[in-house]
Amino acid sequence: MRILCAESLRDRNTLALPATAEALAVVHGEEDLREAFAWAAARQLPVLPLGSGSNVVLSGNLKALVVCLATTGREILRQGDESIVLGVAAGEAWHPLVEWCLEQGYFGLENLALIPGTVGAAPIQNIGAYGVELQSFVERVHALRIDTGEPLVLSGQDCEFAYRDSVFKHRLRDALIITRVDLRLSRQPDVRADYPTLARALDQSGIGAPTPRDVFDAVVDIRSSRLPDPAREPNAGSFFKNPRLPIAAAQELAGRFPGLPLYPHGSGEAKLPAGWLIEHCGWKGYRDGAVGVHPQHALVIVNYGGGDGKAVLALAERIADSVSERFAVALEIEPRVYGG
Ligand SMILES: Cc1cc2nc3c(=O)[nH]c(=O)nc-3n(C[C@H](O)[C@H](O)[C@H](O)COP(=O)(O)OP(=O)(O)OC[C@H]3O[C@@H](n4cnc5c(N)ncnc54)[C@H](O)[C@@H]3O)c2cc1C
Repeated sequence: MRILCAESLRDRNTLALPATAEALAVVHGEEDLREAFAWAAARQLPVLPLGSGSNVVLSGNLKALVVCLATTGREILRQGDESIVLGVAAGEAWHPLVEWCLEQGYFGLENLALIPGTVGAAPIQNIGAYGVELQSFVERVHALRIDTGEPLVLSGQDCEFAYRDSVFKHRLRDALIITRVDLRLSRQPDVRADYPTLARALDQSGIGAPTPRDVFDAVVDIRSSRLPDPAREPNAGSFFKNPRLPIAAAQELAGRFPGLPLYPHGSGEAKLPAGWLIEHCGWKGYRDGAVGVHPQHALVIVNYGGGDGKAVLALAERIADSVSERFAVALEIEPRVYGG
């Protein structure tokens, strides 16, 4: 394992923000990881795991040992007629795994196609799209504790998954590096096609009884045609989470702002689309120098070239302030911010 000093992270985050890692290690296994932990501890540097950098805002010089996992591997741990449990290395890219599972006849992940990032980062925010969340498939998460190098195994329940949330953002924040995720998938087609955008797309293609392949293709089509590609328009996907309110408060708001869509969320809560709130504050297509709000997607902040973390966060703060002023709703940003 090589440790590089003063390494640029511009090409390692999808917002293409300029930032430097005090040190960076690309690790190939648990031995490398333990060595990296010891190296960082000896220099009193925190360890910062970085996957594809598609859910982070980086700024300035990160006084940390940034650790990138280059581990690969997909292993069948158990299988029966109904289901299969796969152990997948944290360094694997997410979307190729989804496609491979479909080809093997391991079903369930189709709605999560084309989400950028690595397998190891997927449990951090319990990735979700088109009516499906990762939590439905996680059997175990394997990790190493950064302070001791000891292994830790969490069940799906231990992960305390919720909407874009998990124990890794709270009690275990910054405490570990995920090394493997065990996923329980179905051997029988397990189609979830009722999410409105997806159902509409399938319907428009004349597909009445979709197969997992149909769902996968439709999700890939929708995402490719609608979502800005970070390679051309650097972004971190949805910049804000959809806020949740008690049902009564949400209904009262919808009464005052006709057209505000509400989605039931768990017991007694409704989710409001952050994109709608932002759009109705007039931000869609707004541009301030190098950074702006995508003209088609109010939820997406774009670095048009030369923008930095500070500019992105300043714009995000102005957006959140205006939503708070107009709707009295607090927006929370989705990506994790590093550096200052
Ligand atoms: C265009 C676009 C579309 C997106 N669409 C969606 C979507 O539909 N649904 C969705 O849920 N998300 C979406 N995202 C967000 C993002 O793809 C996911 O959050 C993804 O899981 C991040 O993976 P990553 O490898 O890039 O993580 P990074 O951005 O590198 O890291 C994210 C966080 O996870 C931590 N982390 C990374 N790897 C590990 C590890 N091995 N162990 C411990 N901690 C780790 C990092 O320290 C950081 O805090 C989108 C992003 C983009 C750019």
